[in-house]
Order: sequence, then structure tokens, then C-alpha cells
Amino acid sequence: MDSIIHISGLKRHYWMGDTLVAALDNISLDVHKGDFVMIVGSSGSGKSTLMHLLGLLDVPTGGVLEVGGDRVAECSEARVSRMRNEHIGFVFQSFNLLNDLDVVENIALPLVYRGVPRRLRRERATELAIKLGLGKRLHHHPKELSGGQLQRIAIARALIGEPDILLADEPTGNLDSATSREIMQIFYDLNSQGHTIIMVTHDPKLADQGTRKVTLLDGKIIEDVPGKRQPPAEHPAHQEERRFPGGGSVSIADLVRIGIKEGLLAHQLRTFLTMLGIIIGISSVIAMSSFSLGSKQKQADQIRALGANLVKIVDKQFENERLVEARSRGSSGLGRKDLELLRQGIPDIERAACVRQIKLNVMHELGPLNPRVLGVEGDYLEVNNLAMAEGRFFDRGDWATSECSVVIGSTLAKILAEMRSENKLEPRSPVGEHLLLGGTPYTIVGVLQEKTIDMDELEATSASDPNRDLLLPLETLITRTAYLDLRSEVDEIQLQIRDENALAQAGRAIRSILGVTHAGQNDYDMVIPMDLLKQKQQSQHLLDILTICISSISIVVGGIGIMNIMLASVTERIREIGIRRAIGATKMDIMRQFLTESMTISITGGAFGVILAGIVVVFTCQFLNLPVVFSLQLLCAAVIASTLTGLVFGIYPAYQAANKNPVESLRAE
Ligand code: ADP
Ligand code: MG
Repeated sequence: MDSIIHISGLKRHYWMGDTLVAALDNISLDVHKGDFVMIVGSSGSGKSTLMHLLGLLDVPTGGVLEVGGDRVAECSEARVSRMRNEHIGFVFQSFNLLNDLDVVENIALPLVYRGVPRRLRRERATELAIKLGLGKRLHHHPKELSGGQLQRIAIARALIGEPDILLADEPTGNLDSATSREIMQIFYDLNSQGHTIIMVTHDPKLADQGTRKVTLLDGKIIEDVPGKRQPPAEHPAHQEERRFPGGGSVSIADLVRIGIKEGLLAHQLRTFLTMLGIIIGISSVIAMSSFSLGSKQKQADQIRALGANLVKIVDKQFENERLVEARSRGSSGLGRKDLELLRQGIPDIERAACVRQIKLNVMHELGPLNPRVLGVEGDYLEVNNLAMAEGRFFDRGDWATSECSVVIGSTLAKILAEMRSENKLEPRSPVGEHLLLGGTPYTIVGVLQEKTIDMDELEATSASDPNRDLLLPLETLITRTAYLDLRSEVDEIQLQIRDENALAQAGRAIRSILGVTHAGQNDYDMVIPMDLLKQKQQSQHLLDILTICISSISIVVGGIGIMNIMLASVTERIREIGIRRAIGATKMDIMRQFLTESMTISITGGAFGVILAGIVVVFTCQFLNLPVVFSLQLLCAAVIASTLTGLVFGIYPAYQAANKNPVESLRAE
């Protein structure tokens, strides 16, 4: 008969300070299918050491160990863990169950590391639990059960993987005699069914109840004799195909399940406090950037409110010699002719207006007004996104016959109304009232609608407050106000371009046309308010980067918190690690488990951070009257950042967990 276990010359030595302890010394043993080997010997004779070697939990100092024909010394760590999972069922004196799992989950644990789907392994675990008399305790936790019941769970767990060998190290050592008999009966039955069993016992009554009795003394086998038990006949049931073939690996779903259960739910307050760094970091990045984006959008909206897609060509208003020089070189300054040419040359121009500003005393009979006086022509209202509140804008007659009509901004209308009330006059509409412009009487024909613009925010874009403007037809301004000098005809040409994205291109086209008409004289400026705003916002980038840096520090601190808590967790759960390794988890499985836990914490923290940021942004933006803008890129970055934090700061603790020695871990209390 082939031997399932073959050992020869096996040694296990320990260094205790300067002295060498030979816990096992030159052991040779063959175990065959159907054997029930009882290992006896006084305390300290090396029984547990032998069992740990047979269970592949420990590495021998020398000698040969073969399990199922494979030389263990030649196998990789992962392969050894697989062998442990598939060929060996270990029953410990102190049960070694996971307290957080119920009976069924404890029994099913070895199948987790074989990648068996949850439903299947629970079915099988339930079957085994019922078979071992645990039918009424399926969903109890170890803390609620007696020693006998705990050992039944442990036996069921050892059996579920259909191992070739059952190893039991003093399985009745912690049980009373009645319970011991019940547990021993289970082992006898298993042996009768064909299971190979190696059991350590301290009980002299049990010593010869196996098929073989092996006696150890000081790390050596001093006796190997047959016991009273007959080896079982070749059992047909044992020839069955395995229900759960090996080769699988723990599934992502199981990792996440463990991550949520152990990482998040086991210590909720502690975990929450750990997450705070991530929560604060992520939420501040998102909230700050949302405010920044919101205020940028608000500024852009205001620019659009002052006139969408606007390009302004502004005369430089040269004086004295420079003016004379420009004129003598062939530029007649900015004029209505320029606009005509631009319109012909640039099809993207949708609307246009000409503006000329003039300094004039403006008097009402009740007192002076100090408006900005503008002569306008073309689509002035539309280009500047203005509307009438009262009365009318200039009609055909005003443009043509140089009527003395003016339109005033809302602030001017308010000033007029105030002056009336100060003088205890009845309130009335300013439309129809008269103003003296430089001594000439004009009639107010309309009032512009108020524009609510935060001028402070827009200072860099050279916008001015349209509510203080007094408008009159450009033609009137030119003919009525005597200005016979070299000054340019208009101060400003305003162009509305069809598309915001075509602004820069239009700007270039304008320059090339005006370069010709102005004979190369650089006597005008081109202002694109939206471009100016964008430039200004660009310069604020530094602030955004600073915000992100500060928030990143918070995330890093959060990561350190996670690392700290995971290191503590590894120490606390060293026994759990030992148990998982003992039933066949590879180092990689343990590593993945702890990484999943730290990532579960950090990703959950990130999710809380995003939610918190969402709430803060929505409320604050409502309060500050800002548009709510979230950057999708930033949300993605937040998810990636929190995932990476869990990963990076989880690696060291996970590595520590994975490299714990299984035997020492199991011994830890
Ligand atoms: P048994 O199970 O038969 O009581 P063990 O196998 O536990 O005995 O121990 C055998 C010998 O090896 C003892 O002398 C013990 O002190 C020693 N020993 C076991 N484990 C270690 C260890 N980790 N470090 C040092 N000595 C050990
Ligand atoms: Mg022992």
C-alpha cells in the first residue's frame, strides 16, 4: 500500500538562547491509507512539533517529508498552502474557531480558499453540521457554544475539504470525559469510513485504541506497535470523486465580504475615526474646487450678461504729437469705416455697434447728473445684452434726423427719482423729462433695465457699469457736439461674434484687417472680455493647486491613520491569521484580505467625503448665490485617491500579516 505520509530523518531544532533544543530528532515514519495512528508521549516529547510539521504549518530543520507523494521542501509557499487546504484537516486542542463567524461559516471556511461559491459551501457545511449533531446550532457563534460543540465544529471544518489525512492534536484535551467519549466516537466512525487519522493523545486509555501506537520520547520514536483497532476495509465511499476540486482561489466577492465585515463593521467607531482624515481630505478638495469652479462660472456668466462673445476694439486716444504722428502716417483712427470693412471681411461677426464717449455736463433742472455719456450706433442694445425698462430705444427718426433724444441707465433714473423726492415732488417716470447736455436740451425717451453685476469681481475685464450710462445716437453726438479736431471718429467698436470658441480667431482676423486700414499704426487696443477673464482665472490656478495640496496632506494623514489601525488590527487578529493559514490560506490570500480591508476603509471614507462635499456645496452655493458645479474629473480623482491611499498605506500591514508564522500565530493568546 502506498503511504500517504512518508518521513525519514526528520528534524526540528530550536535555538533557545545558546542551547539547541532538538524537539524532533531523526524521526522516520510512514502512514498508510486507513491508518489510525495514536501518538503518545510525555509532555515536551515533541508530539505537537511533529503534528505541526505533518500539518505543513512548520518547516523542518532537516530530513524528508512527503505528503501525497510530493516532497514538501521542494514546493512553493503557495503550493504548500494548497496542499494544506486540500490534503489535510487539522483539529486542535483549543478548537481555533473564528469568533466572528457562525457555525456554518466556520465549517465552510476551508472552501472559501478554494473559491467554492458561497451557496454551495454553505449547503455542504450545513450538511456536515447536521451530521455532527449541530443541526440546532447552525447560526450560533462560538462564544455561545460548549466545548464539545466547538470540537464538533472543528472536526466538521477539518472534514469539509475532503482531506486525505485528519490530524488531531489532543482533541479531547479540553473536554470532560463524557464529551471526550462522544468526540472519540466521531473519530472512530470516520476511521471506519476510511479516513486516515493521526491523533496525539495524553490519555493512556486511548493510547491503544488506534490501529497503531507511536510513542515519542525526547524527540525520538521509541516504540511503534499495532493498536487494538482493525484497519478498515477499502471503503467504496472513499473512492468517490472529490466534491470540490482544488485549484481555486479566494474570490473577490469573499474578499469584499471579509473587508466589510472585519474592516468596517467590527470596530465601527474606531474605523470611523480612522476614516476622518480621508473624509476631510476628499470633501475639502471637492468642495473647494466646486466653489472655485462655481465662482469662475459665475464670473463667466456675468461677462456673458454684459454681452456674449464680445470683442471690443478700443481707440488708444492719442494726444498731441503722437496723434499728429499717427495721422501723418496715414491712420485716421478708429471709425465707422473700420466697422464696415470688418463686417465685410469677417463673416463670424453677428452684430456690431460703435460707441463714442464724451465728457459733457449733464444737468437736470433739479441738479447735476454725472453719467458716462456715450454716443452709440448699430446693435448697441443687443451686443451689450441690454433691454429697455421704460420708454423706447432710438428709432429710425432719432438716428436719421439727429433728434435730441437720450436713453438713460437705471441708476440715473433712480437718481432722478431721489432728487424728486428730496424736492417733495410727485414721483413720475423720467421718460419725457428734459436734460441739458452741454447747454443743449435733450429729451429722455427711454430707461434701460437694471443690470445686476458685481463690478468688483470683473475689474480685470475692463467692464464698466452700464447702469450709469447716458446714451444718445452717435450721429447726434458727432454733429451736435463741436469736435473739429484730429480725434478718432469713434472710441470703441463692439463686435458680437457668432461663437465663443471663434473669439480668438476673430481677434486675429480683426488685427490683420485693421493693420491695413490703420497703416500699421498701433493706435487701438483689442479687448476680449472673456479672454481677459480666462487669463485672470488662469492666474488663480495657483490657489487651486494650493488647496489640493493642503487637502492631499489630510488624505495622507488619513492614510497614516489607516496604516496605524491596520497594524493594530494585525496584532489583535494574529490568531485569526494563524487559523486562516492553518486551513489553507496562502500568504497572498492573507495579504489580499488585509489590503481589501484597508481599501474598504479608505474607499468608504472617500465615499463619505464625496457625500459630505455634495451636501456642503449645495447648501453653501445656495447661500453664496453661486452656481453648483461639480467636476467629474475631480470626482474620479477622489475615487482613485482614496483607493490608492488604502492600497499604499495598507501594503505594509498586509505584508506583516501575510508573513506571520502560522504556528506562532496559533499559539498567541
Ligand atoms: P508536546 O506537544 O509533546 O508536549 P512540543 O512538541 O510542544 O511537545 O515541544 C517539544 C519541545 O520543543 C519542548 O521541549 C519545547 O519546549 C520545545 N519547543 C516547542 N516549540 C518551541 C519553540 N517555538 N521554541 C523553542 N522551543 C520549542
Ligand atoms: Mg503539545
